[in-house]
Amino acid sequence: MGCSVVSELLEGYDLDRLTIATLASHSSLQIAHGAKKEGFSTLLVVTEDRVGFYGQFKHLVDYFIVVRRWSDLCSREVVEELRSRNSVFVPHGSFVEYVGMDCATGLSVPIFGLRSLFPIEADQHAKMELLRSAEIPTPTTYSLDSEIDGLAIVKLPGAKGGRGYFIASSRQEIAERLRALVDRGLVSDVSKVIIQEYLVGVTAYFHYFYSPVLERLEITGADIRYESDVDSLRRIPIEKLKEIGVEPTFTVVGNIPVVLRESLLPAVYSYGEKFVNKTKEVLPPGVVGPFCLEGVVDRDANIKIFEFSGRIVAGTNLYVNGSPYTYLYWDEPMSVGRRIAREIRLAVEKNRLSSVIT
Ligand code: AMP
Repeated sequence: MGCSVVSELLEGYDLDRLTIATLASHSSLQIAHGAKKEGFSTLLVVTEDRVGFYGQFKHLVDYFIVVRRWSDLCSREVVEELRSRNSVFVPHGSFVEYVGMDCATGLSVPIFGLRSLFPIEADQHAKMELLRSAEIPTPTTYSLDSEIDGLAIVKLPGAKGGRGYFIASSRQEIAERLRALVDRGLVSDVSKVIIQEYLVGVTAYFHYFYSPVLERLEITGADIRYESDVDSLRRIPIEKLKEIGVEPTFTVVGNIPVVLRESLLPAVYSYGEKFVNKTKEVLPPGVVGPFCLEGVVDRDANIKIFEFSGRIVAGTNLYVNGSPYTYLYWDEPMSVGRRIAREIRLAVEKNRLSSVIT
């Protein structure tokens, strides 16, 4: 979004009385907690069925807007209320999925972060292309007719959180299994399937924050996803599952903290820098605030990235009181939620709010 549009979004705003707003899901409590620590008012847009749960946190949330459906976020009434409270909206990992792409990209409220990244994030092929063009090492991508060297992971369109992925070792096996899925009506468009080199090693999710105000990139943490069934394979041999016809899934159940070996950090940092620089080049003004690169580290400490998120990831919820890395930058408890609010506060103080919103 260009500067003129940003200034339109801020029209009529009282910058001394900003409210930090988000959807009541994903990492919203962390975001609200951090915003309070930085002295902002907070607002959650919440569906009726969640009011009971979120209502417990009145000390963190000043205003609730109760909606029937998430997409009501873009209704005139809700937008007017958000604007009347001088809201800056923080998009999190559930945002686009809940409200839909048109509402997410078209919301007439300032968004903390880079809107033009949303459509790229929603398109697996565009996503991998962005990583590759940033010269970040990624797994080989195969087409339906390429020979597979080693193992491949097949990601079905619309599969969420790793459910419905499968691993295969040849082109023939992939073709057969996809045909069976099409026959069962589980896949409609095989051209949308992603076939990637299956990376052998351990997964690690690297959390970053890019500050346009301080012009610096920070590593804010790392986590591992706890995935059912793959993470249960130390408890049961895979052959036993196969005997009963069960293919292990990668369904995310939770997040586990991890502190990286310090000698990995320079490479992790350089991948983050490449990501920031590439987004500045192809999607100006470039990524703002939190993002995450998701990768596998192999036995020789090589890191390849198979996925990214351009927003705050749920793994940051581990560090509501700060992470070992944010402590080193800030010397005080600094969650990513609080870091977002700190960035907004610094931006207002330096008269640069337009550089952190789109
Ligand atoms: P994603 O939906 O891309 O985040 O992937 C879900 C899970 O699948 C990840 O957390 C990994 O455990 C696994 N995964 C995805 N891509 C790869 C890959 N190229 N190699 C190995 N594991 C992968």
